[in-house]
Amino acid sequence: MGFCLFNNVAVAAAHARDRHGLERIAIVDFDVHHGNGTQSIFQSEPKVAYLSSHQSGIYPHTGGVRDRGAGNLHNALLPPGSGSFRFRNTWLDTLLPALDDFRPQLLLLSAGFDGHMADPLADLMLDADDFAWITGELRTIARRHGGRIVSMLEGATTRTRWPNARSPTGCAARLSPASCHGRTEPRPVPPRAFIARMHPHPASYQRFSARMPPPVRSPCACSRCR
Ligand SMILES: [Zn+2]
Repeated sequence: MGFCLFNNVAVAAAHARDRHGLERIAIVDFDVHHGNGTQSIFQSEPKVAYLSSHQSGIYPHTGGVRDRGAGNLHNALLPPGSGSFRFRNTWLDTLLPALDDFRPQLLLLSAGFDGHMADPLADLMLDADDFAWITGELRTIARRHGGRIVSMLEGATTRTRWPNARSPTGCAARLSPASCHGRTEPRPVPPRAFIARMHPHPASYQRFSARMPPPVRSPCACSRCR
């Protein structure tokens, strides 16, 4: 239904439900596009919660906030030009509390990085630090409910197009045992010339970036910090 032949995260969720008997599996999707296939597969399955933030007005034009399925769907729309401030507050205000209430036994991340400001197909103004931040928040919630979390790369990455190459590595770092202890990564400062070339809204990035709250230090529950 989207860009993919196989929905890896849906296969993983169905396997966890059918083979391992899990009752509460959460799929968290911060890709810039709505996961229309994932929602369609699980919209009548209360054992699988689907939570997504995505840009409004773009393909596949699904994922409205009124889509509730069996009470297991949570969609949030981000207008074009949204940056760190809007993204983080959307997750903090609505999606992360809903995820915490669901008490997921397993948390699966649909980790797409096309919300990055350098992505040529969409108009969000996120950067690598935002993806690392949401991964850290999700890890904290996963820890509260058993600590099972798996991140699946869903594309929109490149090794050559700086600075989006930092996005998946920043998320992987937040999931590694050595990533805690209150450390935060330095915020990247992309060259203005690069932003102007790669994205038509450099001014909105500057505006949202200036309003962004300071980096959040997630409480650490690892064995070294306890
Ligand atoms: Zn996408």
